[in-house]
Amino acid sequence: MNPSLILVFMVGLIFIFIRMRSRRRPPVAKPRPPMQIQGKMVQTYLHPRIGSACLADSELQFGPGFRRKESPELPHDPYCRCAIVPFNFTSSEVFNGALRRLVKIDSSIPGLPLEPARLLISRLKILAGKPLPASESAFLEACELKSFPDAYQAQIQTFLRERYAHEQHPPPVNTEEKAEPLAPSPSVTDSGS
Ligand SMILES: [Zn+2]
Repeated sequence: MNPSLILVFMVGLIFIFIRMRSRRRPPVAKPRPPMQIQGKMVQTYLHPRIGSACLADSELQFGPGFRRKESPELPHDPYCRCAIVPFNFTSSEVFNGALRRLVKIDSSIPGLPLEPARLLISRLKILAGKPLPASESAFLEACELKSFPDAYQAQIQTFLRERYAHEQHPPPVNTEEKAEPLAPSPSVTDSGS
Protein backbone atom coordinates (compact mmCIF):
# COMPACT_ATOMS: atom_id res chain seq x y z
CA MET A 1 0.00 0.00 0.00
CA ASN A 2 1.14 3.49 -0.76
CA PRO A 3 2.54 5.02 2.49
CA SER A 4 1.12 8.43 1.68
CA LEU A 5 -2.29 6.81 1.27
CA ILE A 6 -1.92 5.24 4.73
CA LEU A 7 -0.98 8.66 6.12
CA VAL A 8 -4.08 10.29 4.61
CA PHE A 9 -6.17 7.43 5.98
CA MET A 10 -4.67 7.86 9.49
CA VAL A 11 -5.17 11.62 9.47
CA GLY A 12 -8.77 11.07 8.41
CA LEU A 13 -9.31 8.61 11.26
CA ILE A 14 -7.83 11.03 13.81
CA PHE A 15 -10.02 13.81 12.44
CA ILE A 16 -13.18 11.69 12.76
CA PHE A 17 -12.14 10.60 16.27
CA ILE A 18 -11.66 14.21 17.43
CA ARG A 19 -14.99 15.26 15.92
CA MET A 20 -16.81 12.44 17.71
CA ARG A 21 -15.18 13.26 21.04
CA SER A 22 -16.07 16.92 20.82
CA ARG A 23 -19.65 16.05 19.95
CA ARG A 24 -20.03 13.65 22.81
CA ARG A 25 -18.92 16.18 25.40
CA PRO A 26 -20.85 19.39 25.08
CA PRO A 27 -18.98 22.35 26.55
CA VAL A 28 -19.90 22.74 30.21
CA ALA A 29 -21.87 25.94 30.62
CA LYS A 30 -20.70 27.76 33.72
CA PRO A 31 -23.66 28.98 35.73
CA ARG A 32 -23.63 32.75 35.35
CA PRO A 33 -24.07 34.73 38.53
CA PRO A 34 -27.35 36.65 38.37
CA MET A 35 -26.86 40.26 37.35
CA GLN A 36 -27.18 42.57 40.35
CA ILE A 37 -28.82 45.94 40.05
CA GLN A 38 -27.64 48.25 42.77
CA GLY A 39 -28.85 51.73 43.42
CA LYS A 40 -30.74 54.03 45.70
CA MET A 41 -34.18 55.56 45.66
CA VAL A 42 -35.51 58.81 47.08
CA GLN A 43 -38.58 58.33 49.25
CA THR A 44 -40.37 61.59 49.76
CA TYR A 45 -42.49 62.51 52.75
CA LEU A 46 -45.55 64.35 51.48
CA HIS A 47 -46.72 67.21 53.68
CA PRO A 48 -48.27 70.64 53.05
CA ARG A 49 -44.95 72.50 53.16
CA ILE A 50 -43.11 70.16 50.81
CA GLY A 51 -40.75 71.99 48.45
CA SER A 52 -40.55 71.67 44.67
CA ALA A 53 -37.18 69.85 44.83
CA CYS A 54 -38.67 67.15 47.05
CA LEU A 55 -41.62 66.82 44.67
CA ALA A 56 -39.29 66.55 41.69
CA ASP A 57 -37.07 63.90 43.27
CA SER A 58 -39.82 61.65 44.58
CA GLU A 59 -39.06 58.07 43.43
CA LEU A 60 -35.79 59.19 41.86
CA GLN A 61 -33.49 56.22 41.27
CA PHE A 62 -29.78 56.67 40.97
CA GLY A 63 -26.57 54.70 41.25
CA PRO A 64 -23.98 52.89 39.12
CA GLY A 65 -26.53 51.16 36.86
CA PHE A 66 -28.74 54.22 36.37
CA ARG A 67 -28.64 57.22 34.11
CA ARG A 68 -28.27 59.41 37.14
CA LYS A 69 -25.20 58.41 39.18
CA GLU A 70 -25.14 61.01 41.92
CA SER A 71 -27.37 61.40 44.92
CA PRO A 72 -29.33 64.62 45.27
CA GLU A 73 -28.12 66.65 48.17
CA LEU A 74 -30.40 66.20 51.14
CA PRO A 75 -32.14 67.85 52.79
CA HIS A 76 -33.56 69.61 49.74
CA ASP A 77 -34.72 72.51 51.91
CA PRO A 78 -35.53 73.16 55.56
CA TYR A 79 -38.86 71.33 55.24
CA CYS A 80 -37.42 68.29 53.46
CA ARG A 81 -38.10 64.94 55.02
CA CYS A 82 -36.93 62.81 52.11
CA ALA A 83 -35.05 59.60 52.78
CA ILE A 84 -32.64 57.67 50.58
CA VAL A 85 -33.20 53.94 50.49
CA PRO A 86 -30.50 51.66 49.06
CA PHE A 87 -31.44 48.55 47.13
CA ASN A 88 -29.71 45.58 45.57
CA PHE A 89 -31.81 43.35 43.34
CA THR A 90 -31.14 40.72 40.74
CA SER A 91 -32.29 41.54 37.24
CA SER A 92 -35.10 39.00 37.54
CA GLU A 93 -36.29 40.58 40.80
CA VAL A 94 -36.39 43.92 39.00
CA PHE A 95 -38.24 42.28 36.14
CA ASN A 96 -40.77 40.98 38.67
CA GLY A 97 -41.45 44.44 40.07
CA ALA A 98 -39.00 44.77 42.99
CA LEU A 99 -38.38 48.43 42.19
CA ARG A 100 -42.07 49.20 41.91
CA ARG A 101 -42.65 47.59 45.30
CA LEU A 102 -39.91 49.73 46.82
CA VAL A 103 -41.75 52.93 45.92
CA LYS A 104 -43.24 54.40 49.05
CA ILE A 105 -44.67 57.85 49.73
CA ASP A 106 -45.32 58.47 53.40
CA SER A 107 -47.49 61.46 54.03
CA SER A 108 -49.07 63.64 56.67
CA ILE A 109 -52.41 62.21 55.53
CA PRO A 110 -52.72 59.00 57.53
CA GLY A 111 -52.99 55.89 55.41
CA LEU A 112 -53.01 57.72 52.08
CA PRO A 113 -52.42 54.98 49.47
CA LEU A 114 -49.63 55.25 46.95
CA GLU A 115 -51.69 56.15 43.89
CA PRO A 116 -53.52 59.19 45.31
CA ALA A 117 -50.24 60.27 46.93
CA ARG A 118 -48.58 60.13 43.51
CA LEU A 119 -51.47 62.02 41.99
CA LEU A 120 -51.21 64.70 44.65
CA ILE A 121 -47.47 65.01 44.03
CA SER A 122 -47.99 65.36 40.29
CA ARG A 123 -50.67 68.05 40.79
CA LEU A 124 -48.42 69.96 43.18
CA LYS A 125 -45.55 69.67 40.72
CA ILE A 126 -47.63 71.16 37.91
CA LEU A 127 -48.81 74.00 40.14
CA ALA A 128 -45.32 74.69 41.51
CA GLY A 129 -44.29 76.16 38.17
CA LYS A 130 -47.29 78.47 37.89
CA PRO A 131 -48.43 81.63 39.63
CA LEU A 132 -50.45 80.91 42.75
CA PRO A 133 -54.22 81.04 42.09
CA ALA A 134 -55.88 84.13 43.52
CA SER A 135 -58.10 82.29 45.97
CA GLU A 136 -58.09 79.13 48.01
CA SER A 137 -61.09 77.75 46.13
CA ALA A 138 -59.34 78.39 42.81
CA PHE A 139 -56.32 76.55 44.19
CA LEU A 140 -58.47 73.57 45.21
CA GLU A 141 -60.02 73.55 41.77
CA ALA A 142 -56.62 73.70 40.09
CA CYS A 143 -55.60 70.65 42.15
CA GLU A 144 -58.72 68.84 40.90
CA LEU A 145 -59.69 67.87 44.41
CA LYS A 146 -62.78 66.04 43.13
CA SER A 147 -60.64 63.53 41.24
CA PHE A 148 -59.22 62.04 44.44
CA PRO A 149 -60.87 59.02 46.11
CA ASP A 150 -63.88 60.07 48.18
CA ALA A 151 -62.44 58.50 51.30
CA TYR A 152 -59.51 60.94 51.28
CA GLN A 153 -61.07 64.09 49.87
CA ALA A 154 -61.70 65.77 53.24
CA GLN A 155 -58.12 65.16 54.35
CA ILE A 156 -56.68 66.22 51.01
CA GLN A 157 -58.76 69.37 51.16
CA THR A 158 -57.30 70.20 54.59
CA PHE A 159 -53.85 69.40 53.22
CA LEU A 160 -54.36 71.72 50.22
CA ARG A 161 -55.69 74.55 52.37
CA GLU A 162 -52.55 74.35 54.48
CA ARG A 163 -50.54 74.19 51.30
CA TYR A 164 -52.20 77.29 49.95
CA ALA A 165 -51.59 79.19 53.17
CA HIS A 166 -47.95 78.12 53.06
CA GLU A 167 -47.58 79.14 49.41
CA GLN A 168 -49.05 82.54 50.18
CA HIS A 169 -46.28 83.16 52.67
CA PRO A 170 -43.28 81.27 51.31
CA PRO A 171 -40.26 81.17 53.62
CA PRO A 172 -37.52 83.71 52.85
CA VAL A 173 -34.84 82.45 50.48
CA ASN A 174 -31.15 82.14 51.47
CA THR A 175 -31.67 82.21 55.17
CA GLU A 176 -29.30 80.46 57.48
CA GLU A 177 -32.02 80.00 60.04
CA LYS A 178 -33.54 76.60 60.20
CA ALA A 179 -37.27 76.45 59.86
CA GLU A 180 -39.06 75.27 62.92
CA PRO A 181 -39.32 71.50 62.77
CA LEU A 182 -42.62 70.09 61.71
CA ALA A 183 -44.69 69.03 64.66
CA PRO A 184 -45.05 65.28 64.41
CA SER A 185 -48.58 64.49 63.48
CA PRO A 186 -50.05 62.14 66.12
CA SER A 187 -51.61 60.00 63.45
CA VAL A 188 -48.47 59.54 61.35
CA THR A 189 -46.96 56.81 63.48
CA ASP A 190 -50.01 54.60 63.75
CA SER A 191 -52.56 53.28 61.26
CA GLY A 192 -50.39 54.39 58.35
CA SER A 193 -48.95 50.95 57.81
ZN1 LIG B 1 -36.63 66.47 50.03
